[in-house]
Amino acid sequence: MNDPNPLYADACENCMTRDVLPQSALRDGAEAIVAGYRCPNCRHTWTCSWGVVPGRALPPEPIDQSLFDRYATAQLHEQAAVNRARKHLSRKDPS
Ligand SMILES: [Zn+2]
Repeated sequence: MNDPNPLYADACENCMTRDVLPQSALRDGAEAIVAGYRCPNCRHTWTCSWGVVPGRALPPEPIDQSLFDRYATAQLHEQAAVNRARKHLSRKDPS
């Protein structure tokens, strides 16, 4: 298998550091995750939504907030909620 990004790495838009690995991620339904990142160089935090790729290891869920910046965790939950809302709006039959 030739997966170009097996760990859901993303680039920091603030300082352009590449291949920053997610600190944690939330499931967003069956086929997506919202991953939270903190840049090791500039400490910029951000989130990114990914389609779950079969065979990839999922980042850990944010269980203990002491392991993860509280602000970034809040961003993560907010983005997951936005994604859920979007999905509901685009769905024709409620489920
Ligand atoms: Zn950065």
